[in-house]
Amino acid sequence: MAFEGLSERLQKAFSGLRRKGKVTESDVRDSMREIRLALLEADVNFGVVKEFVKNVREKAVGAEVLESLSPAQQIIKIVNDELTATMGEAAVPLNKSPHIPTIIMMVGLQGAGKTTTVGKLSKRLIQQEKARPLLIAADVYRPAAIDQLQVVGKSVGVPVFEMGTDTDPREIVRQGLAQAALQHNDYVIIDTAGRLQIDEKLMTELADIKEIAHPNEILLVVDSMTGQAATDVAKGFDERLDITGVVLTKLDGDTRGGAALSIRKVTGKPIKFIGQGEKMDSLDVFYPDRMANRILGMGDMLTLIDKAQQNFDEKQATEMADKIKENTFDFNDFLDQMAQVQNMGPMEDIMKMIPGMANNPALKNFKMDPKDIAHMKAIVYSMTPAEREQPDLLNPSRRRRLAAGSGRPIVEVNRMIKQFNASKKMMSQMYKGNFQGMEGLMGG
Ligand code: GDP
Repeated sequence: MAFEGLSERLQKAFSGLRRKGKVTESDVRDSMREIRLALLEADVNFGVVKEFVKNVREKAVGAEVLESLSPAQQIIKIVNDELTATMGEAAVPLNKSPHIPTIIMMVGLQGAGKTTTVGKLSKRLIQQEKARPLLIAADVYRPAAIDQLQVVGKSVGVPVFEMGTDTDPREIVRQGLAQAALQHNDYVIIDTAGRLQIDEKLMTELADIKEIAHPNEILLVVDSMTGQAATDVAKGFDERLDITGVVLTKLDGDTRGGAALSIRKVTGKPIKFIGQGEKMDSLDVFYPDRMANRILGMGDMLTLIDKAQQNFDEKQATEMADKIKENTFDFNDFLDQMAQVQNMGPMEDIMKMIPGMANNPALKNFKMDPKDIAHMKAIVYSMTPAEREQPDLLNPSRRRRLAAGSGRPIVEVNRMIKQFNASKKMMSQMYKGNFQGMEGLMGG
């Protein structure tokens, strides 16, 4: 998971403080040292670490903090605010042109995830705005690049303008834009060439394409797993092209997180999106405050809610909320809900977004096997309509019948009913705004 290492180190720094009733200046000094090491180990840019620690120390040593009732909490809050500020405060939306098309130029080193991100971004624009993008294949140096863009375009249902590998990329961009004007495409996304490292010829070509296309947005795609190197790449591209935003890819595999914490400060340019997987729907808006919460193990309920909103329609959600409120949530709803939750992605990733869960040892090796879900469904399908609606009917003899009907052991039937009751209770608590008791679910 992203930021795992940093998250663990910071938790450790704070747990020392938490254990103390009263915090002294020397305690603060110790924890600042821990925070500094944690950030350096996460591969955060040295200058950024220096400024971070200085800012936190100045605020933490303030007399009010040390004399407050919960100094550890206050310091955690200061660190949380500083993390948010370092990553850029608020989410920055995509630049839009006042008239169509909005032109987005994608740049980045080879292998950073540019082509994949073109696909993800197209899918996002289609889902959110019913957009009609045109992709322009301007990487003529690798024949496979055009094929790859076509595969990606096909998978999200977006046309690709290409002229093979024999035409100059500047000409391809000119003609691609002319085609978009004819077809009234509302977005044009230009996939440019990448190299293994920044070189002059590539930069000249990109600068020329910028001149020709007048893009509203120049998004630099960088691989977060490369840490400091990603920050240096961002600086290099920005100096030459004056980029408008960054997409940080492969955050799903980045346990350190140094790039996310450095790029904004070093370049002054916002991270607009993060890629968290190879699939076309794993592109999320970058929210610095949510990311700070995630780093501090405070979960990310807001992203969870966003994901839920993308997968549940509003009517279903309102019906579900009513059922929870009236305590009439039954096994039919349980089946529906399981199907929807499955659409949201791997269960273990979802659980980690719940406050208090990210660093929960019970979750360390938690995996929800799709087979378990199939078994639960088999048990529910063996219930009579009355049993599904009134789970209280399920006495021992009925449970034995369910076991025989579904071919599952009786202990599994009992466990599932117990989990159902626990989740029903949890949902009614969540509805009342009480998040305690969620951990009980993990015991099941
Ligand atoms: P390009 O050379 O910059 O166009 O890079 P590609 O789009 O071809 O991506 C390089 C590799 O990174 C591919 O195997 C992608 O599937 C993978 N990739 C891209 N974005 C992500 C991401 O957010 N997470 C993960 N895990 N892999 C990614």
